[in-house]
Amino acid sequence: MPDNGAGKSFYERVAAATPGGDVLMKCLQCGTCGGSCPSGADMDSTPRQLFAMISAGMEDEVLSSNTPWYCVSCYYCTVRCPQEIPITMIMYTLKRMALARGHYHKDAHINWSKSFTNFVELNGRSFELGAMTLFGLHNPFAIVKQGGLGVQMITKGRMPPVPERIRNMPQLTAILNEAKRIAEEEEV
Ligand code: SF4
Ligand code: SF4
Repeated sequence: MPDNGAGKSFYERVAAATPGGDVLMKCLQCGTCGGSCPSGADMDSTPRQLFAMISAGMEDEVLSSNTPWYCVSCYYCTVRCPQEIPITMIMYTLKRMALARGHYHKDAHINWSKSFTNFVELNGRSFELGAMTLFGLHNPFAIVKQGGLGVQMITKGRMPPVPERIRNMPQLTAILNEAKRIAEEEEV
């Protein structure tokens, strides 16, 4: 298995960084995951292909793939995998690794994702109107298309016009800080 020069192959680092990831070696290449995936048509490699590439040590190709970024975390592949491989969690691992290297697909829309997490860190929950507005700055045609729906959601009380903050923000902030500390300690 190709080595990264630091003693561990790409496959071993992916497996180690994923809870339960050591079972990746049991992948049968059956294709059930890709066949179940609602985003499969938009992915440049199916999950099955991606796992074969990980085993082959194709680090650059895997980390620059759009596949993890099109994963919508529905967990359908995970519940259907005959080998109980934590496919969705592996997608998270690959996203973290790609971000850590600044080596990710253009469809990752990192700035927009960061704005979403910033709202959560600030208020304890997402702020859909703010996220939609930021998304619209980059995708004005999408806003023209979806704007009517947004107005309906606001008028029907389904989308607050201003951010709403949870009651115990200090507790959430402490949890997030601890999660960040652990993440910094992890080697990906
Ligand atoms: S469903 Fe599981 S065993 Fe089959 S290809 Fe996907 S990861 Fe491998
Ligand atoms: S969790 Fe991700 S990879 Fe798995 S089926 Fe859903 S979208 Fe596809």
